[in-house]
Amino acid sequence: MTTSTHAEALRAPTGTHDVMPGESERWIALLGVFASLVEKAGFGLIHTPLFEDVRLFRRGVGTETEVVGKEMYEFEDKGGRAMALRPEGTASVVRAVIQHHPTMPFKAWYATPTFRYERPQAGRYRQHHQVGVEVLGISDPDLDVEVLELAVDYLHALGLSGFTLRLNSLGDPACRPAYLDELQCYLTAHVGELCDEHAGKIDANPLRILDCKRETCRSVSAAAPSMADALCAECATHHDRVRAGLDAHGVAYLNDAALVRGLDYYTRTTFEITIPIEGSELTILGGGRYDGLVAALGGEDTPGIGFGSGIERVLLACDGQGAFAVAPSVPEVFIIDTTDGTIARDVVAKLRRAGIAADRGYGGRSMKSQMKSADRSGAKFALIVGSKEAAAGTITIRDLRGDGTQHEVDASTLVASLAALTTTPKDLHS
Ligand SMILES: [Zn+2]
Ligand SMILES: [Zn+2]
Repeated sequence: MTTSTHAEALRAPTGTHDVMPGESERWIALLGVFASLVEKAGFGLIHTPLFEDVRLFRRGVGTETEVVGKEMYEFEDKGGRAMALRPEGTASVVRAVIQHHPTMPFKAWYATPTFRYERPQAGRYRQHHQVGVEVLGISDPDLDVEVLELAVDYLHALGLSGFTLRLNSLGDPACRPAYLDELQCYLTAHVGELCDEHAGKIDANPLRILDCKRETCRSVSAAAPSMADALCAECATHHDRVRAGLDAHGVAYLNDAALVRGLDYYTRTTFEITIPIEGSELTILGGGRYDGLVAALGGEDTPGIGFGSGIERVLLACDGQGAFAVAPSVPEVFIIDTTDGTIARDVVAKLRRAGIAADRGYGGRSMKSQMKSADRSGAKFALIVGSKEAAAGTITIRDLRGDGTQHEVDASTLVASLAALTTTPKDLHS
């Protein structure tokens, strides 16, 4: 029998990461920015389970897509049911709408982890996090403009610039099948020039070949028939109206006939926002219309549109641009009690109940050591209780940010004294 004195230290699974305090303040602020923007536009928060019946994603997202075909986290639960961790945000929202049939139009936003078993690299995680919106029940192209503007406004609100919005129309069941036939014919004629991965994929997923970044596929794609030329009158009118709205509102975009998204459910308006991060152009937001998805999942024929945006990548982009710096939260006051700690115990509770962010030192440590903790905490003021103050029923307030001014105040008027100090910072620091 072998014994070991130390258990093996466990680490977060490959491709995942911890968001620690110090970094998480930025996450809170980002969610605040997003929530405030979309709530003003009439979206309500939706929470759905992180795992669903695997068939939801197979039917909804498509088995030929990378995220479902190759990268989905699937598992059997203890009851023998085939489940999957959410690989993207839309399918669950649509499932919830079909299940609860809310009043239309239905507008919801989410913030959620999503799971993809892929090779970890910069800005790619096996568990990453997204914010997004979905609108169901409206086919009006002016809604597409609203959703696109929300996407752009969100990134601007974080202070990001230099990103590119690409826009395309993928047509609808009236015009896409004929286009796909035409595209398949063309690709079949050029099968010898395609990359190894795509030479066998012409029938399964011809649109994805247009998205291939390998030089061989790219030169074939360059001369491929374009969806833009194959749109039916209704799809062309829809797309023109979307473009006119963006033009009218000064939203810059590239109309890019080569843009396809990795999910099967998109129809008509499709878009993606990319930004240079650490030398490569990364997608930080993507979305589009999915007018056939609700019906495909067993609901009534209902149009839909939405987008999702990866939080980790957006924050990476912010880092690259020095944007969206968020100061860590710090206490207003730090209580140093060099007597038996009773006063610190009571004062910290009283201040927190009064809505003042307060922290304290513990364990009867020396004045010097507790003062170090107070400085490190970033607090504006140290509240000092020594034997002199304890005997007199007073507390000494020391300004830690300015010139170190001290006031000795009556303990019973502490909250009022602090309020006076924090509401007139100019007087204090002038
Ligand atoms: Zn290829
Ligand atoms: Zn069409």
